[in-house]
Amino acid sequence: MKEDVEMDAIEILKQLKNKGVRFTPQRQAILEFLLETESHPTADEIYHHVKAKFPGVSLGTIYNTLNMLKEHGHLLELSYGDMSSRFDGNPKNHYHIVCLMCGMVADYHSPLIDMNQEVMEKSGFLITGHRMEFYGICPECRKDEKPN
Ligand SMILES: [Zn+2]
Ligand SMILES: [Zn+2]
Repeated sequence: MKEDVEMDAIEILKQLKNKGVRFTPQRQAILEFLLETESHPTADEIYHHVKAKFPGVSLGTIYNTLNMLKEHGHLLELSYGDMSSRFDGNPKNHYHIVCLMCGMVADYHSPLIDMNQEVMEKSGFLITGHRMEFYGICPECRKDEKPN
């Protein structure tokens, strides 16, 4: 495991313990996987990863832990209509690029567009955030494109 991931995990565990959240080794493994991966896994993918280390883990534990991390602001959930949600251990708002061929989701780090004020004034909504996504075909899938 990367050292900074371990540090982040310890810091988050400490914060949650102060709030009275119980942490089992299974829950810790879920958190660590989310911090070390950039693949934006689905709950199912997280389940299979954690199950390799903790065969007794249930899908219910995965969902409980994801909900708890989300509630405490340590996790972003990206929902896509009918498709499974994907989870991001980086809770800071950032942009995503979605591959329409394989469904892979990549991060795109760029300063966030500051439109909240404008939208708030024009729509009358109290704006608390925004989400922008790019769609296309990832480099891996582009390799498979047949040249005409
Ligand atoms: Zn792709
Ligand atoms: Zn992300």
